[in-house]
Amino acid sequence: MPGSTTAGAAWFTLRRRITIYPPEPAGRPGVCAVCRGPSRTGYARCYQCAQHDLLGPGLLADAVVPISYSVKGTAFAASLWRYKSWPSPDPAARASLLALLLTFLHDHGRCVWRHAGMPAPGRLAVVPTGCGRPGPHPLLELAAPYLRLPVAGLVIRPGEQGRDPNPDRFRAERAWPGASVLLLDDSWVSGASAQSAAAALKRAGARHVAVVVLGRHVDPSDRHSALLAARLTPSRYDPDRCAVHPSPTSASPTDTMTPDPSGS
Ligand SMILES: [Zn+2]
Ligand SMILES: [Zn+2]
Repeated sequence: MPGSTTAGAAWFTLRRRITIYPPEPAGRPGVCAVCRGPSRTGYARCYQCAQHDLLGPGLLADAVVPISYSVKGTAFAASLWRYKSWPSPDPAARASLLALLLTFLHDHGRCVWRHAGMPAPGRLAVVPTGCGRPGPHPLLELAAPYLRLPVAGLVIRPGEQGRDPNPDRFRAERAWPGASVLLLDDSWVSGASAQSAAAALKRAGARHVAVVVLGRHVDPSDRHSALLAARLTPSRYDPDRCAVHPSPTSASPTDTMTPDPSGS
């Protein structure tokens, strides 16, 4: 089919342009099983991910999948700020992050849904930022036209800003009974915002929430992160590898997400 050949060539071209810091395997000692950040020897999760249990039973995201590490001081980390610089977002950063997100969801969306134990998502949400900029979140604005999913809006509750996990920090704009939600975030530092947003969606009735993060923050100057940071090197994006990649026979082809490369 000529159309699919053209689409296949487009994805191939996009993949070749992408460089990431691939997430380490969940089972590796010193790597958090949830966010892939540094964890203390003998602990499956990092301190922050263990703290997220405070949000309450059943409210955490069903899957957290970082696409890449965001190593402080690298061009990739800078692009995660520049794409949303206000009032002048960097067009190159926007284009490269959009390509990364769409390519990842095309190639690995089914890995994410499977890891979350959910069907392909029916709703899209983005973790709100507390910086008070006008208009929609830059990541939502960037991705929504391509993902073609109805948006599950989240708003920040006045007076509930903070850095700790807090099920009251965000409020879903309406109820989403039984929904499977793809929740996007640009950067994961402690994960408190993303898990608080997942909790708000679950309180609004969402059955499943899968978090996909563009960059899991790593600061090489932080003594807890130094060992991990020393191992990380930029690599060409690999379509056969992701943080939760299943064995080749275990995913259902019908669960593939097909972002529209034209955005129309
Ligand atoms: Zn963690
Ligand atoms: Zn995968």
